[in-house]
Amino acid sequence: MAEGSAGYDYEVAVIGAGPGGYVAAIKSAQLGKKTCIIEKESVGGTCLNVGCIPTKTLIKTASLLWQMREASAFAIEGVPDTLTVSMPKLQERKKAVVNQLVGGVKGLLRGNKVDLINGAGCFVDAHTLQVGERRVSAEHIIIATGSRAIIPSFIKIEGNNTLLTSTEALDLDHVPERTVIVGGGVIGVEFAYLLNRLGSAVTVLELLDHILPMVDTEVSALAQKRMEKDGITFHLGVKVLRVKDNAVFYDEGGNERCIQADAVLMAVGRAPNTEGLGAESIGVQFDRNAIAVDENMRTNIENIYAIGDVNGKVMLAHTASHEGLVALGAMFGGHGTINYDHIPSCIYLEPEIACIGLTEAQARERYARVKVGKFPAAANGKSLVEGDTDGIFKVIIEETYGEILGVHLYGQHVTEMIGEAAVAMTGELTAEELVNAVHPHPTVNEALSEAFMSAVGRAIHSLMA
Ligand code: FAD
Ligand code: NAD
Repeated sequence: MAEGSAGYDYEVAVIGAGPGGYVAAIKSAQLGKKTCIIEKESVGGTCLNVGCIPTKTLIKTASLLWQMREASAFAIEGVPDTLTVSMPKLQERKKAVVNQLVGGVKGLLRGNKVDLINGAGCFVDAHTLQVGERRVSAEHIIIATGSRAIIPSFIKIEGNNTLLTSTEALDLDHVPERTVIVGGGVIGVEFAYLLNRLGSAVTVLELLDHILPMVDTEVSALAQKRMEKDGITFHLGVKVLRVKDNAVFYDEGGNERCIQADAVLMAVGRAPNTEGLGAESIGVQFDRNAIAVDENMRTNIENIYAIGDVNGKVMLAHTASHEGLVALGAMFGGHGTINYDHIPSCIYLEPEIACIGLTEAQARERYARVKVGKFPAAANGKSLVEGDTDGIFKVIIEETYGEILGVHLYGQHVTEMIGEAAVAMTGELTAEELVNAVHPHPTVNEALSEAFMSAVGRAIHSLMA
């Protein structure tokens, strides 16, 4: 094998081929560096195999089923009332989508001359990894081992249960009649939406007094109201204590209560994957259970970096990918840092949620002069055409200079438009500048522009202050 720099096998070795690792490996190769990527399961990581892509594929079918059932509202006649989803066929479609994307990433790695090494990587020293029988040395090493679902030890599991994490819930070959979901975060709420649409009676148990802790509470309250209207039950401010024979026991204000289910989905968070990696043994420092990094994604060991879920900062696919570029920039020059206040986050319900930056509560804590602009989806022509006017477009700006602090959207297609806010915030555009950009008609996107108009003065198409 031709050697990389300084006598190492490779200039860059990446452990883990999720959206953090594979993007970093491709970028490294594009910079002309001899690169390998080590993967113990499937290229594409959580995101492509058991995360973003399979969930959205299942959600697409669930949403389509609902829309077809509502077709008479759009003057379509003759739709049978017996429409159902074939779970085996849906699983086939999911596998086809996943396989196509995984194949695409493998092709990109090959095309960029990244060596793919199958197996689990484990540190021998700061420049050497053991992968099965093979030793691989590298000048720089990027840890991108991702995260896994947790079932916390404080929730006791007894008897015979159909206990699922998101991974098993993605493989269901039938829809449980009654599902209890423990945790009302993003995973809990997306699966609540999915399973409800597919016909399960869904109950969500959440510790906090609101769902979706990372979302502006005005938006999360509206989303909860809509999901309740669609038949999902929420119990908030409750603590799940144990699960026995598919009965979920929880504490509500000091009283123990119980709900019987046919399946229980645990969605109480994810933990970084560091078991078996040997990072502690070579002296890599941790921040609780995540690998500690600086703003360049560098660990306390100079040639070792950690990106994506394993550094525990923001567990999103696009964050992992961007952090990979930041790490490569730190090694070889060229790419800046990452601003964690400018990372968009999307939740795939009907309507969708998309947000970026500070919530109103966070903005009021950090800034003296805050102005909030809002525009209701009900006043947007395209939302009416789409047949769903639930939603709100909310923007938060710093009043003196018009700096955009946060954008929180709940409406049709909003996951496709939050990128505009990301560009505006990264480019440090003011609210006035965003209003000066012409937005096309008729689009839902106009409502975003109107929300900014509301923040800097008055929206044209709303009497809301
Ligand atoms: P991962 O994607 O977890 O990849 C890590 C890889 O490393 C894995 O392939 C693993 O097998 C491998 N690995 C681990 N240890 C070793 C080792 N020792 N040696 C070799 N290989 C190893 N994010 C979004 O942005 N949008 C979404 O819509 C979204 N939906 C999600 C839905 C679900 C159900 C879940 C669970 C997550 C979702 N996420 C979503 C989060 C997203 O999947 C993760 O943030 C993202 O995959 C993290 O990328 P990563 O590269 O850090 O790690
Ligand atoms: P989370 O941290 O977002 O939510 C977990 C929820 O469980 C919290 O609201 C918490 O209060 C609650 N909880 C904890 N213990 C409880 C108990 N005993 N009883 C009741 N409730 C309890 O975690 P998650 O939903 O598992 O998601 C994990 C990660 O995956 C997130 O960081 C998210 O970014 C990522 N993800 C993103 C998307 C997306 O971007 N669309 C989709 C899925 C997952």
